[in-house]
Formats: sequence, C-alpha cells, structure tokens
Amino acid sequence: MSVKDSLETLKKIGSELIRISQISALLGWDQETYMPREGIDDRASQQALLSGWQHERLTDPKIGKALEDLGVDIEVKRLELSQFISIPGLSEEDRAFVREMTRNYRREKKLPKSLVEEFAKETSISQSKWVEARERSDFEIFAPHLERVLKIEMEMAELIGYESEPYDALLDAYEPWMTTKELVNVFDRFETALKNLVDRIVDSSKEINDSFLYKRYNVRKQEAFGRELLEAMGFDFDKGRLDVSAHPFTTTIGFSDVRLTTRYSENNLKDAIFGIIHEGGHGLYELGFSENLRGNILAEGASMGIHESQSRLWENIIGRSYGFWSAFYPKLTEYFEDALRRVTLEDFYRAVNIVRPSLIRVMADEVTYNLHILVRFKIERALLNREISVNELPRVWNNEYEYLLGVRPSNDAEGVLQDIHWSLGYIGYFPTYSLGNLYSAQFYMKMREDIEDLDEEIERGNLRPVLGWLRENIHRYGKIYPAGELCKHVTGEPLNPQYFMDYLEKKYSEIYSLN
Ligand code: MG
Repeated sequence: MSVKDSLETLKKIGSELIRISQISALLGWDQETYMPREGIDDRASQQALLSGWQHERLTDPKIGKALEDLGVDIEVKRLELSQFISIPGLSEEDRAFVREMTRNYRREKKLPKSLVEEFAKETSISQSKWVEARERSDFEIFAPHLERVLKIEMEMAELIGYESEPYDALLDAYEPWMTTKELVNVFDRFETALKNLVDRIVDSSKEINDSFLYKRYNVRKQEAFGRELLEAMGFDFDKGRLDVSAHPFTTTIGFSDVRLTTRYSENNLKDAIFGIIHEGGHGLYELGFSENLRGNILAEGASMGIHESQSRLWENIIGRSYGFWSAFYPKLTEYFEDALRRVTLEDFYRAVNIVRPSLIRVMADEVTYNLHILVRFKIERALLNREISVNELPRVWNNEYEYLLGVRPSNDAEGVLQDIHWSLGYIGYFPTYSLGNLYSAQFYMKMREDIEDLDEEIERGNLRPVLGWLRENIHRYGKIYPAGELCKHVTGEPLNPQYFMDYLEKKYSEIYSLN
C-alpha cells in the first residue's frame, strides 16, 4: 500500500475506535448520573460488547499491515520515539498518529482475549468485594480478590514487556514513555524536601481556623456559584454539562460535548467548589484540542499526568490563590451572607489552604497530598517486585503512613481500603496525580513569565489570559507530543520537581510564617 492508503486505513480504524470509546463514555456517564439502580446488568453487558468491539478493532491485522507498509518495525523489543521521526512523507501530526496507533496495537496484541476477559471479570468482582470490605473495614474480605487481580496484572506486565521492572509495563498505560526509573528519580528529588516542609508547618504550631467552612451551605447556591466559576474559567455550557455523581469525574462524549460531575455536601463548602474547579480544568483541556484533531485518536490528553496538571493548575495554583479569591470572594459572600459574615478574605484564603497531615488522600491539602501518593507508589512497586505480599498490606500501609505523614490508621477502612483503584486493576495510576502537581507548577512558572500582568488580571477576575495560554501552549496539541516532550516544548526543560517545591515553599512560608 502507498503511504496515503496506509494512512487512510489507519485513520478509518482510528475514527471508529474514537466512536466506540465515546459511546462507552456516554453509557458510563449515564450509569454514574441518571441510570436507575436496576439498569446495571444490561449496562454491564452493553459495555462488555463495546469492549469486545474495541479489542477487535485494536488488534485488526489491517493495522499491522498498514504499519508495516509505512516502514514501522512493530516487532521491535522496545519502541523508541526516534523510530517515528524517520518515517518519510508524513506531517508531524501524522507521525504522532502512527506512533499512537503502533503503541495501542502492540500493547493490545500482546494480550490474549481470554486474559482481557478474565481481567474484566475479576476486576468487576473485586470491585464489589472492595465495597463490602470497606464497609466492614475488613481487608481479609478483599485480599483474595486483590491477589487474583494482581496475578493477572503481573502476567500482563510480562506479556507486554518492560525495560527494567514489571511496574514499567503498567505505568506505561497511564504515563506513556515514562519508566519507573525516571519516576523514582523525580520522586526521590522531592520526597525529603516535602517531608521537611510538612514538618516545619506542623512545628510552626500556627493555628488556622477553618471551622466556618463546615457550617450549613445551601446546596443550590453552591451549584450556582460553581457554575459562575466555570463560566469565568471559560467553560462553554453549549459544549458541556455539570451534573451530580458519587465520585466527581470528567468524561468526553464528543469533540464538543464534555461532561463534568461533582458532589455537594451541605456541611462542607470546600468539597464542591474545589471539585468543580478541578473537573473544570480537565474539561477545558478536553475542549481545547485543535479543530483538525476532530475524530482523531490524538484528540486526547498527552498523558494522565498532563491531564491532572490541568485540573490541579486551576484547582490549586489559581483556585487556592489569594488573587483569585480577591476577585471571587465578594461574590461568594453574596451567596452565603450569614455563614461568612465575620469571615475576612484573609481568613478564607488561609482556611482553604490549611495543611494537616491526615489519613485520607482525597481530603488532603496540596502539600501533604503527594506523601499519600508516595505511600501508594512504594507499595505498588514492592508488590510487583514480589518484595511484599498482599496479606502484609495493612501493616506495610500503616507503617508507611506513620513514617511519611506521622499518622497511623486505626482500621483498614481509613487505611489500605480507602481507594477504589486497586480493585479496578488500576495499578500504576497513582503516580500520575503527583506528576500532575509537578507539571502544573512548572507550566505555571512559564505562564507567569509569558504573561506580564497575569497576577493583576487574576485579581480582577479575568481568567481569559490563563485559558488562552493553556490553549495555545498545551491544549491544542492533544496527544501530538508525549508528556516529556510537551514539557520540554512548553518550558524549555524536562520535568523538574524544583518548581513545585519552590511554589509550595513560597506560598506556605507566608501562610504559616515559616522562616
Ligand atoms: Mg483529576
């Protein structure tokens, strides 16, 4: 086949894959928002059918043939980015497209259908066992199922292949092209610094009052305020929605149809507001891909870490800044006149930035959050390297919490059972949350360099320059650049955790009067 024909074949399959994943996303969104409880059995079969189609399309021999005709060595032991730079006659975008088709094809082809099905079955059982185990705070209920899921994942890692340890193969699904070694290198550089900063904050014994955040806040008003924030961020409600679900998420149904969800609690003002800003950041990324990527598999985030950098940049760096609340706090006090009557802007800013080592990851502040991730990463890696076994998990978990955060869970529910991820088979996913924090600080540093009056614009409530910069430098590229390349392209250097540490140091030295 000619280059043109091969490319056309791949594009056709690629656009079908997009359609299948959009349909599946719509079913998933409906399941989490409006589907009646008893719809679940049919929904599960509908999703299983789509997964089957997806696997079939992903392993279509036509893909292999077209890639070979383009001169791609699909049998090579380890894919290198440089392999794709040398394909003649292709634009940068088409080279990236071929690269992603190759990655997907190779990965999927190595996994036998029976193993993929077994994985789907075991994870759906283990998820329900995890729910039960957490309710009863009894790890023993979950352990045998986690054992099975882990065994399948280890088998998958061996089939997929890896550079130096099995974790590489799993990490690659969420953070393509990054190796465990690189990750360890990055995390090592900030673990000690982070731990020191947390110790200094705790030792400062500065008391910040945040009790007013837990008064009664009318849920409808929270939603109205949240929608105002999304509009200020530039979220277009003609291309998206905001609904309610048990666990907040963002999902993409179409190129111009992105759904956000959040959850409201009457006794917690922080949860919904920062959750909405966070999902808004994900949503803006999904709506920001360049128009010519419509229907292309490149219309996707560069990696999970880069995706998370977009949500965290909005939620934390912008959304928890003094400048942001200088603009939006007056509005918030209009909604909640009584509850916030005696609360100054200064009080509010400090309260939403309180640092408190705690047991539960999803409630953690932006400083200690990363320590929660380090615990999980160390444990996952040790499990895959067979250094620890599943039945040791509660003890190892508690010891790590005591060591890194200075707090010790008193039961499994607030310890090893708190996250759903492992029950779904998402081993290798957690590190992307921390990578998101690190990338966000590095991007923001560059944004400030590029936009001279950025701080003043934010204080005025004008967030358009922020979105404009993100669109121009990050969003429009979609998956054209791998995460590491994108970072270099945007900031001129590889991922450097120092930017995040500098950001935390500056912000929290001021809040906690550290010296
Ligand atoms: Mg997120």
